[in-house]
Parts: sequence; structure tokens; C-alpha cells
Amino acid sequence: MQKRIQELTELITKYNRAYYEQNAPLISDVEYDVLFKELAALENEYPEFRLADSPTEKVGSDISKGFSEYKHKTRLYSLDNTYSYEDLRKWYEKIQKQFSNIREIELVCELKIDGLAVSLTYENSALTVGATRGDGIVGENITENIKTIKTIPPQLKKNVTELDARGEIFMPKSAFEKLNNNQKKNNGKLFANPRNAAAGSLRQLNPKITAERELSMFTYAGILGDKNYKIETHLEMLEFLKGLGFNLNPNYKVCKDIEEAIEYCKYWDTERYNLDYATDGVVIKINRLDIETELGYTSRAPRWATAFKFPPEEVSTTVKDIQVNVGRTGAVTPVAILEPVYVSGSTVQRATLHNFEEIKRLGINVGDTVLIKKAAEIIPKVITVLEHSSETMKEFLPPDICPFCKSKLIPVEGEVNLYCPNTFFCPAQIKGKLEYWVSKDCMDIDGVGTNLISQLVEKGYVTNPAELYKLRIDDLMQLELIAQKSAQNIFDAIQGSKKPDLSRFINALGIRHVGKETSELIATKFQTFENFQNAACDSVKQIDGIGEKIANSIIDFFANETNIKLINELFELGVKPKEIIMEESEKPLLNQVFVITGTLSNTRDFFEKRIKNLGAKVSSSVSKNTNYVLMGENPGSKVDKARTLGVKIISEDEFENLVSGSKVN
Ligand code: NAD
Repeated sequence: MQKRIQELTELITKYNRAYYEQNAPLISDVEYDVLFKELAALENEYPEFRLADSPTEKVGSDISKGFSEYKHKTRLYSLDNTYSYEDLRKWYEKIQKQFSNIREIELVCELKIDGLAVSLTYENSALTVGATRGDGIVGENITENIKTIKTIPPQLKKNVTELDARGEIFMPKSAFEKLNNNQKKNNGKLFANPRNAAAGSLRQLNPKITAERELSMFTYAGILGDKNYKIETHLEMLEFLKGLGFNLNPNYKVCKDIEEAIEYCKYWDTERYNLDYATDGVVIKINRLDIETELGYTSRAPRWATAFKFPPEEVSTTVKDIQVNVGRTGAVTPVAILEPVYVSGSTVQRATLHNFEEIKRLGINVGDTVLIKKAAEIIPKVITVLEHSSETMKEFLPPDICPFCKSKLIPVEGEVNLYCPNTFFCPAQIKGKLEYWVSKDCMDIDGVGTNLISQLVEKGYVTNPAELYKLRIDDLMQLELIAQKSAQNIFDAIQGSKKPDLSRFINALGIRHVGKETSELIATKFQTFENFQNAACDSVKQIDGIGEKIANSIIDFFANETNIKLINELFELGVKPKEIIMEESEKPLLNQVFVITGTLSNTRDFFEKRIKNLGAKVSSSVSKNTNYVLMGENPGSKVDKARTLGVKIISEDEFENLVSGSKVN
């Protein structure tokens, strides 16, 4: 047990660091919560093995080195949480027992906003400090950034001598999508979810960047310095805060008991998908403040509140059929065709079964009732079989031949998938390749979708991407539902796509293991397609960030005559990826001096080369001539020296902003 406690402590500490400090979680929240609960239970049973720095005893801290520290006047806490209604009942019953003289213990339910906790200090009605939660005792002073958020009042509507307002800063889902689209356009880093985007945006060293990010805040608590106010319930406090000009989430509700609170949780579990902000649960708070005071806090969380976390949604349905898909790479994947069912905000009719091993593992067959969920809330996946069909079904066996071109399927060493080897002539692969070719991250050809491609392939008009460029308006008009005007539009869109960015063209070729990011890396490094093609024979392995597997795949691609023929044909038809040309004067980091310290997300060499390509110098030691210290995890003494000399210290995120043109102050 001692070993497991130690192991869990180390793991959770590692996950905390990734989540709070780097805004880059390594596991899902559910998985994290399971480990956290296991550790808390073991520590409870074996308190003698609890380690001094156990994460169960403190609030996960997000303090980084870029901001000055701010000591909160009153501590901030985390919340205990559960995924079970039974636990909620137990929590409430315990309080009822303790306060048996009170007939009805009212609760206030609020949506648990998935963002970042902050504390705002107001003195004489004016906002003086905004700080992150940090470890609950000390946070980061982010006042300048806070002041850029429109839903935070700089001045209160009524006279208040001293107030600490608490709330959650978040990024609306619509703003998150807009931000990621912009990041994509500018080749910037994409954020995994609105919470990470909010955290990354709020903790920018340059408030101008924060201002551009459309952050918002819901306030949910206030601590008054002046005790003369007659506020006796949490609800009264919420109304008071509203009157001062704070933005409150409108969905709070007073519930007379825990059963009513559970109804609220159930309602929002499905309704949450219609909101423009992310919520990961419900916070249930005791309404009467005198009861709150008496219940108090543990070292980590209040006893007077608890959070119900929404489960990742799982629903049951029946399998109508199991079909086989062949993708653009030839990989053969089984797909379950489902009785349509609504899950996490949309209707699902198909779910991936990944590979034939997975079918065996699940023991799944046509007619079975299965439990499905959206993996990472996007791609539906079958989790388990709930009930086998009452009819006896023939066992589903992997096919021997490709259902589309009848080629014999082959296994590939080290992979669980089967493959169709008929790379250039299998209609399913041709369709897959063309769909990929026209997609947003590749040649981005508007108006050419799955249906059109199916018709083009089935009619034999197009067998590879080059043939798209040979299509005439008349050909297009032979297709179903294509009149002259849309034929003209499609023709223009195809012809208009002939000068793509280099990285998009490389991505469109569909070289195995070379996706969007690798294509971007290659484009930046080689700057022209010819350079890349020439280098592919000998030096691809030297592209930073590219391992041997990818390099070998690139070499194989260029060794294949059909691929070379296709590329030549495309060029003859006028397709020409743009060269990356950067004038010396356009280099964004011209004449700057950088020092790198700590562990970054890629090798030191990678960053050195990037910085140099962007016009700057990289030095090994900090001096007064240094413009920036790029700081990774576990930085060395260079950071202290930079601080002494007043040199700017920037994180990787801030470096990316700097490169994309936004200045860091
Ligand atoms: P938390 O986010 O579960 O709950 C506490 C926070 O809820 C408060 O600090 C407050 O900011 C917020 N909150 C939102 N709406 C609120 C409202 N209406 N009233 C009161 N508070 C409200 O707790 P935490 O300590 O910040 O983080 C722990 C959780 O974070 C874990 O349970 C896990 O889900 C997640 N986490 C995940 C990883 C990972 O690797 N995936 C790592 C660390 C933490």
C-alpha cells in the first residue's frame, strides 16, 4: 500500500503540473478524478503512509514565473467532487444530522463553469487587484489582464469599502472556435479546449493579447471586509453582487433539498450542450451563511459545498450492421451501423470499432445492444456490449478481400489493421484520397464534397487528384444535381486551388505518417517543394521533430514511380505550391538575442534553428544585451540572472505569439 500511495502521489503531482502550469493535461479529468479518489481513500485507510506533500491536502497550484505573486486576503479553495448522486445524498444527510434542529436545509445550485478561478479585490468600489487562485494562499497578480475583460466592472455601482469577488474566467465556445481558426491561419498553436484557451489567454505577459481573446467572467461569491451588511444567505450575496454590477451566471437555483438539487443536475447534464460556455458540473452550496461558517473547510475544500461532475455521456443503442471501411491509406476498419441515437449534442448513426481485434475483445455482433460514447466528445465509440441479440448470429469474421476492389487484404508488421494493397486503383482508397486532397487542411477546394467525389469516381471521370484539374464544365454537368452555374463554380474552385501553400500541398499528398503539423515543419525547413523532394533521398532524417518512421515513409513515397508521375502531372497541369520566401527585413525576430533555458516541447536544437531562421541570435548566457529568455520546464539559474538584469522571460506560448506578430511586453 505504501508503494501505491507513493506512486499515486507522484503521478497526480505530475498531472497537476501539466494541467495547471502548462495548460496541457496528460489525461482526461475522469481518469484524473479516479486516481485522486483512490489516493484519498488509501490515505484515509493508511494515514501513516500519507506523504507530506500529498496533493489531496492542498489546492492544485497554477503559479508560473512570469507574474508577480499576490497574497490573497482570504484563502481560495478547491471543491470536493463526485460523479454519483448517492454521494451527494450522503453529503447532504451528514449535514442534516449535524444540524438536526433545522427542518429544511436549503441549497443553491450553480453551474460549475469550466474555466479559471480568480479573485478580484475592490477598495472603495474600485478594482485594485486581480489574481489567479494559485495555491489558494498566493496567486499571480494579473490585474492588467483582468482589466481588459469587459464583464468585469472596474468600478462598482454602489459604495463598498472592501470586497473580494470570486469567480470563474472562461472563454465562450464561439470565441474559442474563432481563436483556434485564427491560430490555424497564422500557423499558431491550437488550444485543446476552451478552458486551456482561457488559461493560456489570461496568463499572457502582454495584456493586449488577453484583450483580443474575448474572455468573460461569471462571479459566484463575495467576501466583504465591512461586516455591517446584513447578508444571511448565499442567494442574498448573489443578488448583492448583481446589484454592484457583476456578471452572474443566470442559471442558479435555490433547491429545498438534495433531491431537487439532483433534478437540477440531471436537467443540466443534457441541457449543457446548448450553452455557449463549457460547464463540467454543478456546484451545490448550502444557502444559509451561518451554517456555512459552522461547517468550515478541510485543508483543500469547503465542507459546505460540493461539486457534481457531469459524466462523459454514454448511451445505449442497437447494432444494425457491421460494415467495413477502407480509408485513403488502405487501412481496413470495421464500423458499427447503429440505430440512430442522440449523444452529447448530436445524433449518432455510426461508431468506429477500430480494428478486428476490438470486435473480438468486445464480443460484438449484429443485433447486440451496446453502450456508446463520444470519445473526447467527438468520435463515437462502442464501449461495451450490454446485451447480446436473442437471435443466434453468425460470428462476424474479418474479410479476406477488399469489399471495394476485391484485392486480397494484407496485414502490416507491427500494426493491428489489415490493409488493401491496391493503393492507386481501389475505388474506396481513390475516394478517400480525393476527399483528403480537397479538404480544408489540404488544397481547400470549396464545393467538392463526398457526394461529388463518389460520382466522379463511380463514373470513372477521376482516378487521382491530377484528373480533377482536367475536368471540364461539360463533364461536371453530367453529374446528378449539377447545373451550369454550380458546374462553373466547381470548375473555378478546382482551377483556383492551383497555388496552395507549400505545407498544404505536402499534406495533400497523403504521405503516410505526414499530417498537417509535420507538413508545416517540412515546409518551413525546405521552403520549396523541389528542395524537399531532392532532400527526401538523403537528409529527411535531419528534419527536427521527424523520427525515423516518418522519414522512411517519405523516402518510400518518393521512391514510388506512380507518385512521381502524379506529381509531375500535377505540375504540368499548372499546380504549383508557393515557395516560402522571407525577406531579411520581414523576419519577425530580426537582430534580437535569445537565451534558452529549461525543457521545451521540442529539442533545444529545434528552437535554436527556428529562432535563427526568424532573424535572431541565440546566446548561451544571459547578459544585458539579451532581449528574451525562452523558458521551459525546470529552468536553470539563467532565469534568476534574467530577473536581476530585467530581461524579459517568456514561455513557449508567448514565443509563438511573438513569432506570429503579437508583441510581448
Ligand atoms: P475543480 O475545478 O474541480 O473545482 C473547484 C473550482 O471550481 C473552483 O476553484 C472554481 O474555480 C470552480 N468553479 C466553477 N464554477 C463555480 C461555482 N459556480 N462556484 C464555485 N466554484 C466554481 O477543482 P480544481 O482544484 O481546480 O481542479 C481539480 C479538478 O481539475 C479535478 O477534479 C480534475 O477534474 C481537474 N484536473 C485534471 C487534471 C488532468 O490531468 N486532466 C489534472 C488536475 C486537475
